[in-house]
Amino acid sequence: MYGGIEAGGTKFVCAVSNEGGIVKKVSIPTTTPEETLQQVFAFFDQYELDAMGIGSFGPIGIDQTTDSYGYVLATPKKGWTDYNFLGSIKERYDVPIAWTTDVNAAAYGELIKGAAQGKNSCIYLTVGTGIGAGVVIGGDIFSGIAHPEMGHIWVKRHPEDTYEGTCPYHKDCLEGLAAGPSIEARTGIKGQELLQDHPVWDMQAFYIAQALINYTLTLAPEKIILGGGVMNQDHLLQKIRQQFVELMGGYMETPKVSDYIVRWGLPNESGIIGSLLLAEKEHKATK
Ligand code: ADP
Ligand code: ZN
Repeated sequence: MYGGIEAGGTKFVCAVSNEGGIVKKVSIPTTTPEETLQQVFAFFDQYELDAMGIGSFGPIGIDQTTDSYGYVLATPKKGWTDYNFLGSIKERYDVPIAWTTDVNAAAYGELIKGAAQGKNSCIYLTVGTGIGAGVVIGGDIFSGIAHPEMGHIWVKRHPEDTYEGTCPYHKDCLEGLAAGPSIEARTGIKGQELLQDHPVWDMQAFYIAQALINYTLTLAPEKIILGGGVMNQDHLLQKIRQQFVELMGGYMETPKVSDYIVRWGLPNESGIIGSLLLAEKEHKATK
């Protein structure tokens, strides 16, 4: 049996699966590491696990040659900075464990079972409280000195946008200008309550389209998959596709934009399904 954890800033989704798919899934609120992990253990202790997969909120240490491997790094989430997350799980369960970011797990889930099935590469971008992306290339999660931080890239400012940006590190990076909290900061209204004809949606599309162009020009993935709360706005997806084509200016040939830039194929489950698939992959690799 495989165990998967999608560790988010507000909730942990834990699940077990066998070759047939998910057998049981629970949701645990994210509080302190100790309290949260206690509940995680209570769930997984009921099962005989062969391997586990963890997709965690980040940033996290993924370089096995450094001391911070398996740790949660600088996060605003209280109590979690410098927490040895992977170490705590390993201590309890002596099985192979795949360890990556929540968005990487989601990208992997989408590649194997979701919107990028049959492809070798994809990017999964979430636009929610923050902006983050996972990258799969050649069927494997991409990482170098760290996992990519594609939410914090620079984008050209919209000529009518005077908002300073919410990112505590950069102010007006992509996340600072286009994550959910920036919508509320500009308008005083939460994204889910804002009318479709509000000019802020054009700014959103302008920024997200620029990011997708940058990713396309840099990595040329076979698919870009969009998830996260803000992307529940269908009209925004249309605007992003339009801006993508317009701003690309015909420079790089991509698949038809409606096939290339798509919504998730595993709504709300890309991350947990990806974590379980990574557990399975880890199990097969270490057998
Ligand atoms: P998280 O990123 O914390 O996992 P979400 O992906 O739901 O959670 O993102 C939350 C952000 O998305 C909030 O800023 C919220 O206002 C915004 N949001 C949630 N639902 C919608 C919606 N339907 N339309 C626009 N914005 C939304
Ligand atoms: Zn930033």
